[in-house]
Amino acid sequence: MRLKNTFIYLTFLASVLSFSNANAQGYKIKTIVVDAGHGGVKPGAKGAYSWEKDVALKVALKLGLKLQEELPDIKIIQTRKTDVDVDWYRRAEIANDAKADLFISIHCNSMPPGNAHVRGTETFVGAYRRINEMDAGLKENEEIIKDKNYKKQGDPTDPEEAILLSLYKSLYRSKSLALASYIQKNYTDVNKRVNRGVKEQGLLILQRAAMPSVLTEIGFISNKEEEKYINSAEGQEEIVMAIVNAVKQYKKEVEN
Ligand SMILES: [Zn+2]
Repeated sequence: MRLKNTFIYLTFLASVLSFSNANAQGYKIKTIVVDAGHGGVKPGAKGAYSWEKDVALKVALKLGLKLQEELPDIKIIQTRKTDVDVDWYRRAEIANDAKADLFISIHCNSMPPGNAHVRGTETFVGAYRRINEMDAGLKENEEIIKDKNYKKQGDPTDPEEAILLSLYKSLYRSKSLALASYIQKNYTDVNKRVNRGVKEQGLLILQRAAMPSVLTEIGFISNKEEEKYINSAEGQEEIVMAIVNAVKQYKKEVEN
């Protein structure tokens, strides 16, 4: 195993050990990282009049404030607070360095022209396998894979990554799925949104975060009504409350 990967492996092993320790002593959520997708020169998807990066930032900032208000004992960290491009691996690194208990990434969905009718919400958790060609084509991976520095940050097609991913699987998969399910349940039952479900996919940013992690698509910017909804104060408030309530429900379930 190359030195760099050995180092990553040991770091993960250390977090595995501290994780099981935390469980034995009574696990409490202390830190949550909120990640506004895209930013700066990487705007994400475009609607008729708005960009994904701007909607994601507004919702992420409001989510951070609301979480702080409702759960004052928990530290909230934002990966970006302004319109800047933060490297994908850096976003996960911020969460890993902070030993965060949860990583929540905010994105907007989009469809190619001709599919403007498609609407609804979906929430992803990482699929704990090596990135394959199909995953490379995923919308949320596209910008990352296009980045010329992307392979320097550890090649996700590397077989050695499989060892690390299998470690994640046993630790974080069920918790990630639990939070994702609560988020979708609140969008659907309370906000009456169309439910596209919880999905496990090889999303690069989620594979790097060494904690339960979700990426939530809050609506389709390519759909006229949903673009209006995700840009409106009322829509953003509903989305934020759905996620805050999901975090509370998750907290109740995992803390002992
Ligand atoms: Zn996105």
